[in-house]
Amino acid sequence: MRVLVTAGPTREAIDPVRFISNQSSGRMGYEIARALLRRGHQVVLVSGPTALRPPKGAEVVEVQSAREMLKECRKVWPKCGAMFAVAAVADHRPARVSRSKLKREQGQGNSIELLANPDIVKTLAKLARPEQRLIGFALESGGLRAKAEAKRKMLEKGLDFVALNGIAAQGSESSRLLLLGADGSEQIIGPDFKPRLATKVVAATISSVN
Ligand code: C5P
Repeated sequence: MRVLVTAGPTREAIDPVRFISNQSSGRMGYEIARALLRRGHQVVLVSGPTALRPPKGAEVVEVQSAREMLKECRKVWPKCGAMFAVAAVADHRPARVSRSKLKREQGQGNSIELLANPDIVKTLAKLARPEQRLIGFALESGGLRAKAEAKRKMLEKGLDFVALNGIAAQGSESSRLLLLGADGSEQIIGPDFKPRLATKVVAATISSVN
């Protein structure tokens, strides 16, 4: 099966040299891509900027902004059987991008107006055929509320599964996930190193779809 994976942060330009972004290393997304390749799937990895080596055998599409990521995902989605949305997409982008580098004095006392970015996985879920599977990742702080919030996101975005991560997962080698299914299923995966965690997530979500 051909599988779409998004990974890494997005960068939202302020001017030609500055941007808004986040702490995502892209590691979990790249490990999901590798786990899929090990299982014999074809992988299209749409990735924001990371310092990682591309997984051998994946078709890698490099992007910067959320809107570019959405554009590239829309192109390949009709040919894919599943999507793993692991990217940490910036929620907002500056309303205006300056064509020239802003001067120090121009920043003083000013604020950057923000616009909401498109939700990539939600957009693709709306376009999905019934057999196409969507798996999202949620990074939440705050114990008990985190699970309810992840469930809400799963339903609101039209996902089949959401893997809930704690904030500690950011940039770390290992993690523990709570995998929630739209059918009400719940499964704890890990704690484990990210490569093994990725293998288990793939097995628990799309093993029966081939
Ligand atoms: O940021 P949020 O917690 O809503 O992310 C949950 C899921 O939605 C993740 O799988 C993420 O990749 C996806 N997402 C997306 N496009 C966005 C925001 C989030 O695909 N603009």
